[in-house]
Amino acid sequence: MCVQCGACVPVCPSRAIRMRETPSGLLVASINEEKCDGCGLCRAICPGAGISLQGLHGVDPFKGNVLQAYVGHAGNEAIRASGQSGGIVGALLLYLLESGRIDAALVVAMPKDGSLRPRPVLARTRAEILASQGSKYCPVAPCALLEDVREEERIAMVGIPCQMHGIHNLSRQGSPLADRIEYRIGLFCDRTLFFSCMEMMARQARLRMDDIAGLEFRSKRRHGWPGEVCFTLVSGEKRFFPASLRTNLKDFFTPPRCRLCFDKLNVFSDLAVGDAWGISPSARGDSVILARSEKGVLLLQEAAAHGVLRLEKIGMDRVFQGQNIERKRLDFSSFMELAGREGRPLPRYEGLAPGFLKTVEKSLAARNRRRLNYDLAMARSISREEALALARAWRRKQRRNALGAFLFRRTREVIRALFYPVK
Ligand SMILES: Cc1cc2nc3c(=O)[nH]c(=O)nc-3n(C[C@H](O)[C@H](O)[C@H](O)COP(=O)(O)OP(=O)(O)OC[C@H]3O[C@@H](n4cnc5c(N)ncnc54)[C@H](O)[C@@H]3O)c2cc1C
Repeated sequence: MCVQCGACVPVCPSRAIRMRETPSGLLVASINEEKCDGCGLCRAICPGAGISLQGLHGVDPFKGNVLQAYVGHAGNEAIRASGQSGGIVGALLLYLLESGRIDAALVVAMPKDGSLRPRPVLARTRAEILASQGSKYCPVAPCALLEDVREEERIAMVGIPCQMHGIHNLSRQGSPLADRIEYRIGLFCDRTLFFSCMEMMARQARLRMDDIAGLEFRSKRRHGWPGEVCFTLVSGEKRFFPASLRTNLKDFFTPPRCRLCFDKLNVFSDLAVGDAWGISPSARGDSVILARSEKGVLLLQEAAAHGVLRLEKIGMDRVFQGQNIERKRLDFSSFMELAGREGRPLPRYEGLAPGFLKTVEKSLAARNRRRLNYDLAMARSISREEALALARAWRRKQRRNALGAFLFRRTREVIRALFYPVK
């Protein structure tokens, strides 16, 4: 049930918890039983086990509380260009740091040592913030770094929804670790991916892991937004591949816990930022922003007034549509129902009213049951090779099924056309 956020690491008074990488490529909280004194604090704040939605006061949890919605980008074109969508997050963090509102930003940076393991960083300089831009679609546990924030320091934290759920629980438990976070800048997130996905991408690109020094999941360098996969080789050469190298693998490397998460739009943040899917096709990149708190609205207004951001107000429904929230609702409803029926552990979403869920058709339920069983088998793989072999076999099977379905449909069409011609 671990969501890989790392929130349990700094709350443990015995320092008994660390994040460990599993053979299949997830990060999980691992407890040193000898050090653990069984206080239960980690369990109390664990967002994997559950979170309370009471604070949403009956608002649809798939959409969250929205005060204002915008589309826009960083005022500085260089920051926009190196941002994943419109560079909004990078520009806002720089504004907060340079105007003295925060002492540091808790961000995630990809190292250039070939490990392809993004690391949480407390960025205290302009260069560190700029180096952290871009999305890393793999596990990372930024909440673990909260213990490095000094008591008098104020920070902005950037995080995907499950990481913000960790902060939400810390805050509800009255942990001083959460008090140091002045701004919660959330990212939209449909899912993260197993680390092993990166190996699969490298193999399909015919690259050896030893030759790889870095990876950008969605580089805008050559053709702009939405970006291509870009490997940096040890020699310094950059190799670009179509985005499909990653997107075609997404369904084979989805952690099972992501299937049981309702929160695509980061409902516990001050500002939630995502790609402007279905809203702006600009190759330079635009972001959509949902302002969820008064503090968030004020920050955006001020940053826009100073030319840090260029923003345009839009209707929030365009964001919900662009992010296909009804699909998320359907899939979540289906996965929770399946996991419950099979007696698997479920996260407790206190206050999630059944009225917000959808009824699932049998055909989708059957497809999702196969998916969930596959995801669980992946997560349980006892070696990297086993995980990759499983993904390859499942992918071949999916392709065969897709080909079979295509042939069936075509044959049916031909028979219909021959025997029941339209007059
Ligand atoms: C795993 C993941 C899934 C996502 N799924 C969607 C989606 O389904 N739909 C959608 O519209 N948008 C999604 N996003 C958000 C999108 O990719 C951009 O991050 C967002 O639009 C902000 O872009 P920007 O140009 O404003 O940010 P930038 O200026 O590029 O800054 C990005 C910030 O994100 C931080 N960051 C990067 N990766 C991680 C990570 N794994 N964990 C925590 N912080 C991180 C960086 O440290 C940096 O501060 C996802 C992001 C991630 C990380």
